[in-house]
Amino acid sequence: MRSTSVARPWFRSRGEPLLHKQLPEIVRGIVARKKFVYLCTNALLMDKKLSQYEPSTFFTWSVHLDGDKEMHDHSVCQPGTYDRAVTAIKHAKERGFRVNINCTLFNTAQADRVAAFFDTAMEFGVDGITVSPGYAYERAPDQQHFLNRGKTKQLFRDVFKRGSSKTKWSFSQSSLFLDFLAGNQSYHCTPWGNPTRTIFGWQKPCYLLGEGYAKTFDELMNGTDWDSYGTGNYEKCANCMVHSGYEASAVQDAVAHPLKAMGVALRGIGTEGAMKPEIPLDRQRPAQYVFSKHVESKLEEIRQVKEKEKPELLQAG
Ligand code: SF4
Repeated sequence: MRSTSVARPWFRSRGEPLLHKQLPEIVRGIVARKKFVYLCTNALLMDKKLSQYEPSTFFTWSVHLDGDKEMHDHSVCQPGTYDRAVTAIKHAKERGFRVNINCTLFNTAQADRVAAFFDTAMEFGVDGITVSPGYAYERAPDQQHFLNRGKTKQLFRDVFKRGSSKTKWSFSQSSLFLDFLAGNQSYHCTPWGNPTRTIFGWQKPCYLLGEGYAKTFDELMNGTDWDSYGTGNYEKCANCMVHSGYEASAVQDAVAHPLKAMGVALRGIGTEGAMKPEIPLDRQRPAQYVFSKHVESKLEEIRQVKEKEKPELLQAG
């Protein structure tokens, strides 16, 4: 689960949230507080569960689709997933829901096919597209198909070149973040920009890297050495251009330089000319592999709490 209690947006992600029995109630509660919910789903259960949710401007289905039928089914290793997702999207739109797609591009992506897929998605009637380069975060099982920064920028330029004014792709991301993906902005990561809450606690430093957990939001914000993360600072971050850390940097830039952001939004993303220089990696600290240890000890803590609760639950029952 990725969420923040201080900012208005609230996201639920990772795993498959529709398996959670109380989710409709949780979503209703958040929407009632006028906070935005982007419910990320692989859509396998979405069609069946649509009737448990109500359309709202505060509620958006965010359907995971990594490209056309062949690309997506290959990406998730499950034939038929694309068709089920598309059926659910169409039914959701018929019922009046807001629907986005979230699309991760890997190094096998071809610009022509990605552009054609974006056209098709807009034809389904989706309200927005969220696109991000796949990143080799440490827990992902398939490390060999992630993009490095140079390839990411070229791929995004090649995709954006194929967009035309007729196509009108509607991205649910800032114009400056898209410009960054195309190599026209040089941003440092803002790792605290999308705080991640999991069953283990607040994950440090971001949802891609798990290097410890804070019990409270305050402990996360004030007890994390944020400057030790990000491209150029840490080996594990070397190739990352993911929205988790860089969308927040783009938004800060847009707030500080609104005319620049407006210019990119009006002119479109630059797809020609020299790219901005890369962040040097010669001073980054080496990777530390602490993830498994943290999760193992947290799982043990949870197991012990559950063991303690068992007799109380039996008595209560
Ligand atoms: S660069 Fe930022 S968002 Fe990417 S893995 Fe590192 S801390 Fe996380």
